[in-house]
Amino acid sequence: MEEKVSLSLFYLGLVVTLIAILLSGAVFSLAYRDQVEQDLQRQGELLSCAYEDLPDDAALQKFATNDLRITLIAADGVVLFESQANADTMTSHLDRPEIVQALATGVGAGRRTSDTIGAVEYYYAKRQSNGNVLRISMLAQSVLQIYGRAAPYLVGIFFLLLALSVAVAVLLTRRLLRPIRRLPAILDNPDAGATYPELVPLVQELRAQRAAREQMRQEFTANVSHELKTPLTTIGGYAEMIETGMAKGEDVGRFAGKIRKESDRMLTLITDIIRLSRLDGAPEEPHTESVDLREIADGCAETLAQSALARSIRMSVTGEHTTITGNHSEIWEIVYNLTDNAIRYNRDGGSVELIVTPKAITVRDSGIGIPPEHQARIFERFYRVDKSHSRATGGTGLGLSIVKHAAERNGAQITLHSTVHIGTTITVTFP
Ligand code: ADP
Repeated sequence: MEEKVSLSLFYLGLVVTLIAILLSGAVFSLAYRDQVEQDLQRQGELLSCAYEDLPDDAALQKFATNDLRITLIAADGVVLFESQANADTMTSHLDRPEIVQALATGVGAGRRTSDTIGAVEYYYAKRQSNGNVLRISMLAQSVLQIYGRAAPYLVGIFFLLLALSVAVAVLLTRRLLRPIRRLPAILDNPDAGATYPELVPLVQELRAQRAAREQMRQEFTANVSHELKTPLTTIGGYAEMIETGMAKGEDVGRFAGKIRKESDRMLTLITDIIRLSRLDGAPEEPHTESVDLREIADGCAETLAQSALARSIRMSVTGEHTTITGNHSEIWEIVYNLTDNAIRYNRDGGSVELIVTPKAITVRDSGIGIPPEHQARIFERFYRVDKSHSRATGGTGLGLSIVKHAAERNGAQITLHSTVHIGTTITVTFP
């Protein structure tokens, strides 16, 4: 952004400089032309006065210089005197506009560009009391010549202004961006300074988001601690009974079994937390793998076949092989968690269907269903409709938040239909 702003300012400076040089050149050359014309007129008037008192026409020669050319023309166009050439060889001057004008109105002026030397000749002609026309002329530089002579200066000025506009662009950009650069500091500390009023809503929004994230993290930490504390307390209790000898005989084995069950639960919870935190971070694997949904559905059904069988739940997979683009292990995670829930929140002898359609997979169960008031929240971390049921079936409360996260990362949409006592249908549609 800084580079872009700097460059824009620099280009602006460049264009303004060029326009300024061209315009001031044009104005200057106009003023110069005016000046030449005025000078010529003044000298013409002076010479005209002097002419009245001259003994003869040839005496005009002493007023002529290298720059100032003097011509005297009779009313019939014949050249009577010419300071820079021989008047006798010259043709009639009645075709010169300034002479015609002077003969008609008393004075005439004009200028002609000489193609051969690129200069401009200025003329001033005045009719004298004896009827002759006295004309003086002067060669002046054309606008282009003036530019040419001024070129080294102009180039110098141009580069100076260029350097100046670079410096101004850099400084101005720094100043413009300072309130934006300050944003992180302002986010941390409202007293860190002011930013642009236009950015205040953004700062407020970011602060609110940050506060929400912070709260979520705190809640998550509190939940995790609580979830870990429960099995640990149980483990501690059973271990103590064994330690103090309160548990005798076959109780020891039973308690050890409970200890193992609780530690299994902790392990599952920790595994889920690790999965979730991986889903929070940057993707480790690409999301551009070709994933066969049918293959994943078959794999999950096979992996979970044992737990379905234990409750006489019929499991079926239907649909053609269809490939989508995404991350294989994350999509496996989605299907696995949905199928696992469909079994755990089912009734004995119920059914679970995995239906693969192009770009989507549906998991349908004939289970306990989810009451409408809970449906919006079950994807939150640790949210459970019935905590004891979830715990009893080995749930952690994180399964659906893993599903939601993984779906988001693969650009998938989740839709949920559930009726209490009838069952639940969850469809994940991939882009
Ligand atoms: P858990 O580990 O408790 O299953 P989940 O995040 O997977 O956590 O699910 C959150 C809650 O949503 C569950 O506790 C359960 O109450 C409800 N739930 C999820 N799937 C189903 C389902 N297929 N049928 C009924 N309730 C479900």
